[in-house]
Amino acid sequence: MQYVSTRGQIEPVSFQQAVMMGLADDGGLLIPERIPDVRAEVDGWRESSYAELAFDVLKNFMTDMPEADLRAIIDRTYGPAYGGPVAPTVAVGGLHILELWHGPTMAFKDVALQLLGNLFEYILARRGGRLNLLGATSGDTGSAAIHGCRGRAGIDIFIMHPRGRVSPIQERQMTTVPDANVHNIAVEGSFDDCQTIMKTLAADLPFKRAYSLGAVNSVNWARVMAQIVYYFRAALDVTKATGADAVRVSVPTGNFGDILAGWYAMKMGAPIRRLILATNENDILCRFFNTGEYSLGEVRQTYSPSMDIQVASNFERYLYYRAGSEAAALRGLMREFAEAGALHVPTEDGGAVDPDFLAARSTNEDCLETIRRHHERHEYVLDPHTACGVHAAEQAPAAAEPTVCLATAHPAKFPAAIEKATGRADLARHPKIEELMELPTRCRTLPNDKQAVREFIRQTVPQEEQTA
Ligand SMILES: *Cc1c(COP(=O)(O)O)cnc(C)c1O
Repeated sequence: MQYVSTRGQIEPVSFQQAVMMGLADDGGLLIPERIPDVRAEVDGWRESSYAELAFDVLKNFMTDMPEADLRAIIDRTYGPAYGGPVAPTVAVGGLHILELWHGPTMAFKDVALQLLGNLFEYILARRGGRLNLLGATSGDTGSAAIHGCRGRAGIDIFIMHPRGRVSPIQERQMTTVPDANVHNIAVEGSFDDCQTIMKTLAADLPFKRAYSLGAVNSVNWARVMAQIVYYFRAALDVTKATGADAVRVSVPTGNFGDILAGWYAMKMGAPIRRLILATNENDILCRFFNTGEYSLGEVRQTYSPSMDIQVASNFERYLYYRAGSEAAALRGLMREFAEAGALHVPTEDGGAVDPDFLAARSTNEDCLETIRRHHERHEYVLDPHTACGVHAAEQAPAAAEPTVCLATAHPAKFPAAIEKATGRADLARHPKIEELMELPTRCRTLPNDKQAVREFIRQTVPQEEQTA
């Protein structure tokens, strides 16, 4: 399997090259040259362990690795080291909650970032050289990336967060990690400033090459890919438990990485009939799927900060397929968006923008009410992101198929929202979180300036280890 850029201006690359490249060198996103069809095999996967299922799904995408190596990496990632079951489903009320928060940082991003850390280490061990990962985070990505890469040979990881603007728990999940290859940077600016610095440095090809800069954000294909597996897991488990022939899946959405993995799973042949895209008040994607118009709004702060986005970085991959898998047409849409702050995709006869998707938004009030009601009726505590997904599922028109809701974080990561919703401070607790408050922290504060970050990387990475 080769990988191509959505912008069509690089030569196809192998899987391992795609992982190391992160953002495509032409500024586009890397995607597999075709979507594998596994329909003939799916029924045989029902009894597989998570690691076995991951192997059967992922081997289609990772054809440049010997199968024994792939199996070893998957076993190392999703075995006991993961810390808990990867993707169990529990029935709550009439819904099936897919709990994706049993990993080290208690958010679904661990599923992909634990694998990505192992992949980077494997590729570097064989090729030689080093990798410097640069990421920007508003909270969850940074901690999951740090925990995926801590202590790994050949890797230094630099994570920028907006100083004083991530939650105290999220900050501690990053800054209490003692490994010498982890470098936290508190930027005196906003999350958007951090992201701008990251994008500027990642687009500076001479710098990217001289410092072997890689990406841990969801532009990295391996992150989307790893997430495809749990859509198969949930669809197989819930169809088996209910006797239904397919499910629909509600996905709390920010950068469109997670739900895009669901879309790939559906196209590959997982028994998924439809995806429900759930946003908070930052509803650019919800508006798109209901009207065909993708246009910028203002970022609003909500109780679900990991979904507070303005532009969804993974949406370009979806748009590429929408544009008939034509890079030139995609470039036209991206140009339209860059120039006008909006783009438009026509709908057929005034019908749905895409029959594969339903979309609904949650206000802050909807989010709290959903948390409160589910606790009261089912004694189950939803985190605020998951609550947006559950609310969207409840808004969707009734359907014959059972509904899976992705639980993307453990509620203990967001105690203020849980207390506000339920009036109780004792519901959102977890010993792992309480321990964090006792540990020493490490972090470097830098001005909101790409030069300062560039200089910090330069000084931190030993000169003799810099490779072209
Ligand atoms: C990152 C995140 C999301 C959004 O996922 P995307 O892939 O960006 O759409 C939702 N919930 C939680 C808890 C997250 O950390």
